[in-house]
Amino acid sequence: MVCSHIPGFPRMGVQRELKSALETYWKSVSCTDGSFHDADDLEAMGKRLRSAHWALQKKAGLDWVTVGDFAFYDHVLNHVQMLGCEPARFGFTPDVPELVRYFAMARGATDGKSGQAMSMTKWFDTNYHYIVPEFLPETAFSLSSERLFSEVREAKALGHAVKAVLLGPVSFLYLGREKAEGFDRLSLLPGLLPVYRRILSRLHDEGVEWVQMDEPVLGLDIGEKWLSSFSRAYGELSGQGVKLLLATYFSSLDDHVAEVCSLPVDGLHIDAVRGRKDLPDILRMWPEEKILSVGIVDGRNIWKTDLDKALSVLRMPGLVERPNVWVSSSCSLLHVPFSLEGETAMDERLKQCLAFAVEKLDEIGVIRQALRQGDGAVAGALEASRQTVGLRKGDWVHHAGVMERMAKAGDGVDHRHSPFGVRQRLQRKRFGLPAFPTTTIGSFPQTAKIRSVRAAFKRGAMNESDYTKAMQDEIAFCIAEQESLGLDVFVHGEPERNDMVEYFAGLLDGMAITFNGWVQSYGSRCVKPPVIYGDVSRPGAMTVEWTKFAQSLTDKPVKGMLTGPVTILQWSFVRDDEKRSVVAEQIAWAIRDEVRDLENAGIGIIQIDEPGLREGLPLRRAQWREYLDWACRVFRIASCGVRDDTQIHTHMCYAEFGDIMPDIASLDADVITLEASRGDMDLLKGFSDFRYPNEIGPGVYDIHSPRVPSVDEMVALLQRMAGVISPEQLWVNPDCGLKTRQWREVIEALSNMVASAKVMRKAMC
Ligand code: GLN
Ligand code: ZN
Repeated sequence: MVCSHIPGFPRMGVQRELKSALETYWKSVSCTDGSFHDADDLEAMGKRLRSAHWALQKKAGLDWVTVGDFAFYDHVLNHVQMLGCEPARFGFTPDVPELVRYFAMARGATDGKSGQAMSMTKWFDTNYHYIVPEFLPETAFSLSSERLFSEVREAKALGHAVKAVLLGPVSFLYLGREKAEGFDRLSLLPGLLPVYRRILSRLHDEGVEWVQMDEPVLGLDIGEKWLSSFSRAYGELSGQGVKLLLATYFSSLDDHVAEVCSLPVDGLHIDAVRGRKDLPDILRMWPEEKILSVGIVDGRNIWKTDLDKALSVLRMPGLVERPNVWVSSSCSLLHVPFSLEGETAMDERLKQCLAFAVEKLDEIGVIRQALRQGDGAVAGALEASRQTVGLRKGDWVHHAGVMERMAKAGDGVDHRHSPFGVRQRLQRKRFGLPAFPTTTIGSFPQTAKIRSVRAAFKRGAMNESDYTKAMQDEIAFCIAEQESLGLDVFVHGEPERNDMVEYFAGLLDGMAITFNGWVQSYGSRCVKPPVIYGDVSRPGAMTVEWTKFAQSLTDKPVKGMLTGPVTILQWSFVRDDEKRSVVAEQIAWAIRDEVRDLENAGIGIIQIDEPGLREGLPLRRAQWREYLDWACRVFRIASCGVRDDTQIHTHMCYAEFGDIMPDIASLDADVITLEASRGDMDLLKGFSDFRYPNEIGPGVYDIHSPRVPSVDEMVALLQRMAGVISPEQLWVNPDCGLKTRQWREVIEALSNMVASAKVMRKAMC
């Protein structure tokens, strides 16, 4: 009989209750100077959220609730603690409570002595960040936390059938990092497996029947050595009494299908949205008596499932007639917002087309029922789903003739009129900048005052002219500060923007902003991705007035500041009825028009930020080329409609660029600013291997830290840069926007930065 489950559920709660509870707890800890604050309130909130989320799963008719997906900060960090591999550098003594150690690893120790926070990185191609496990040759493992077992007991006491979830041992090692040279973290596997065995047998003792073992790295190019470690690992893990459901998600298994199907586990979960093409092979190779969990409801997007389509996939020959099929979401619902309930201001038609986590649970229930009892049993739901499909084909598509315009565009749209050398000469003449020109990345500190003005305007508590005046005052303040700092190229400071993507989403047609659509990014931090629901177009200028106002206050050039098409795409929920490349190109045309309007308004330098470009790379390298080709092309469509003497900047951060340097060069921006000051200057190595052709500003100070770098420090960095990049190409700038910083720090750091540029200029002549 067909059963149902989900790989995981969001943790934050409907009103982000976990966020508030965490932040209250952290505040009380830091003001008691690291003393062990009583964590009862936080623990109680965790318990309340788990029980509410299990109740929703049960109500939707799932056959198991999932236990072990909850975390106060991050599920990978839960494993670091459970497996007893907390880094020794924290120097924890046995009397330090588990939760205090946990948050010290996540956020740095509050006593200021014992260790910096562990680093974070993106969870596959999502916007969720996990804490990276640290490994040394001497790393030993032991079962060191009871948390999972007590959560299992909690669920059992509430009367739930429990499926526990663990991050599998191979993925756990793969996703971590070696902290010593010359050793391979895979060599730790033999020491790790006994601890997993012990956990499995403890779960069995607790009466758990199924354990989901997440091994998402099976969807990456992990190579032969890692791939072959799976049979050893699972050979040792089977036979602990519990049944194992091996779960993979986020991409197709591709050439790993045969290996996966040979593993000695009792069930297999696959992502049937992104890995649908694997299904025929899996049906052939995966034994019929074993469980096959088909993740058919998209856990990475927010569109209602097209039930007819989903059911036809499930009814493909050889699938649903198997004795042991489960239906599920493709992956954990962690990556979608909680529920649509709070979206009271949303367009009703759009809302009808969406399903957030809670609504997805119901969809899984409906699919299960259709497979068990036939379509007649869910006729109402099927009808509603068909209406949705109809709605989405309606006037959101082609409403602004965007596609026609794209089809008509000639060959010249994606390159500049003249090669860089010609442009550079014209731009130098026009702007007359000194060597080592100084600039910033866009935003200046977003003070409490700025935020409260924006909020009041949004609430309707402030009229438009007062709002405009307040923002203009902020802009004027930023311009005056830059003037006295002596920077060369100014910015307006972005006070009117809460977020670099949401701001544009609010002004573009075809995109919507949600009210409560929060998704966890890391720890207590959540983001609210906009929804791209139709053809994207620009009803009118978006940034021109603010920029023009800023420019009117100074003789120095003020950079127009835009977010690029790939980043807008990457940080939104995107239509699933159109190719991403096409949606990105629509956005590109809208940005191109904005660029042109800025240019016509006399703005000579325009920056188009693309921090999302690198992270949009597909999980499998075989698909990189195709992605990079269209991503770079849409950037050029956005940026290339300008005169030769208009200077285009771009900015990228949070990522390693070494492997895509030629593609970044193919963007042909006149100037690129990059994050570099934190990455141990890895970036610079990239530049000695690849000669970047245009101008470039590798960040000289880390804006993520309140520390103010000295002049000497920045000079030293610039000198090293000048060793691999020709000094005529170099710009001097921080490595990202300054919105999270305090003005005091910013002024000190920027004045040192300007001084360091002057030192460099002197040394040159
Ligand atoms: N212009 C943006 C800012 O300064 C860029 C932000 C980013 O790269 N993430 O805030
Ligand atoms: Zn940045």
